[in-house]
Amino acid sequence: MSLITHWIDGKPVEGSGERTQPVLNPATGEQIATLGLGTTADVDRAVASATEAFATWSQYSLSKRAAVLFRFRDLLAEHTDELARLVSREHGKVVSDAAGEIGRGLEVVEFATGLPHLLKGEYSDQAATGVDVYSFREPLGVVAGITPFNFPVMVPLWMSPVAIATGNAFVLKPSERDPSASLFLADLWQRAGLPDGVFNVVQGDKEAVDALLHHADVAAVSFVGSTPIAKYIHATASAEGKRVQALGGAKNHGVVLADADLDDAVDHLTAAAFGAAGERCMALSVAVVEDSVADELVAKLAAKARAVKVGAGDEPGADMGPVITAAAKERIEGLISSADRDGAQIVVDGRGYTVPGHENGFFVGPTVIDRVATEHEVYREEVFGPVLDVVRVSGLEEALEVINANPYGNGTAIFTSSGEAARTFQRGVKVGMVGVNVPIPVPVAWHSFGGWKDSLFGESHVYGPEGIAFYTRGKVVTQRWPHRAHGDLRGDASFHFSGDASK
Ligand code: NAD
Repeated sequence: MSLITHWIDGKPVEGSGERTQPVLNPATGEQIATLGLGTTADVDRAVASATEAFATWSQYSLSKRAAVLFRFRDLLAEHTDELARLVSREHGKVVSDAAGEIGRGLEVVEFATGLPHLLKGEYSDQAATGVDVYSFREPLGVVAGITPFNFPVMVPLWMSPVAIATGNAFVLKPSERDPSASLFLADLWQRAGLPDGVFNVVQGDKEAVDALLHHADVAAVSFVGSTPIAKYIHATASAEGKRVQALGGAKNHGVVLADADLDDAVDHLTAAAFGAAGERCMALSVAVVEDSVADELVAKLAAKARAVKVGAGDEPGADMGPVITAAAKERIEGLISSADRDGAQIVVDGRGYTVPGHENGFFVGPTVIDRVATEHEVYREEVFGPVLDVVRVSGLEEALEVINANPYGNGTAIFTSSGEAARTFQRGVKVGMVGVNVPIPVPVAWHSFGGWKDSLFGESHVYGPEGIAFYTRGKVVTQRWPHRAHGDLRGDASFHFSGDASK
């Protein structure tokens, strides 16, 4: 059984600890590798390497840094298929979807190649007579990224290209469920010419995370994962005086108004609820449907859900793969059962689903549950599986009330043919990312990604302009060069704080 290592100082490194964990193929349930779980000593080693590398990398010229980013971009594009297959084997998502997540990550790399422009600062000539003021941003030092299982490439690429482009050194603690993609990325960074130590990987679980959170030389922490852990990361890293952005879980609602193109809405809802087996932080897990079209919509949704092709991620034509673990399957099936007990109506039932030839895989079939109420457990919990709740409402006003009362605020969408309704929704909804006839409104890389409420702790969204700001701090220089020869600017020193603009 192969051992999945850390990546420290430009090479694979076996950890100092004894603890290991099996890495499984969710489509077969079989162990495919063993992961060495990182210790505090492993984190110390990675941070020491990153600290040393930061001293030189942060002094690289902008054009030399950009050249590394451009090469990394090309290598990532060239190796997309290979990397997508690796992701599919450990995560379970279909290969084309894995390629899609790499594509979204690639977009962030492309954004980061623009670093000479993004870091060019501001300049005020002659702010006072003979005085110029300019401001620019400097990197923080060593920054850490702690990432979830569901996007083992895209989420590390939301963080690392921006952190590295801005001159920081990065330590990644990927998910222990699908860790191999992190080493693939490390190898590509090295081949792109990134100096050793600028991108490190420490595998592991809470022990490695805690070591990063408490390490004096880690300046900032970016986290993406579930809400309870996001809260913990935010509180712990903040108490240590670190800058922190911690993105949490989600419950994303897709509103369908009576004036929507129902077939279009159904196509999008189905893909957004069941794609990646619902294991997306931007999955639409609740359809909030105007009463007058609810029966028709549910009938169409049920037909579409039954037609979803479920299979192993590398099976040609499969729409959706397994969920991540046997425990996840059990938890999701338990939540479907709770809906039954709570009085909702299970229209399409994905419990007990098997795929021929993959009887030990962790499959849950697409599930549609109608007449869900906001008190029901299946509504209150983040299911993170292929389950679509249908909540019936009287119209847009009630839809907004439902969404705004939900503790999460990651993404949402509205399907309508009314510009007025869309605008009312967009302005009234308390959610960070809004789609209008777009089911999964993940912002393009030159905007920033982030939710509201229990979906994000900290002030800063990831990538885009907010990512640049997060990984840098401002410096402002006020400068004067006295003309000693002329004597014209001498003698203006004052004991008084001057607000005199004529100076
Ligand atoms: P998770 O919270 O279990 O794990 C995320 C990371 O935290 C992993 O690296 C894990 O090793 C670490 N971790 C887990 N338990 C820990 C603990 N007790 N102490 C310290 N570290 C710990 O999340 P997951 O199951 O890997 O991912 C799914 C979750 O992530 C879902 O809730 C999903 O909504 C969320 N997510 C959110 C976004 C977003 O953008 N808001 C994006 C992707 C995923």
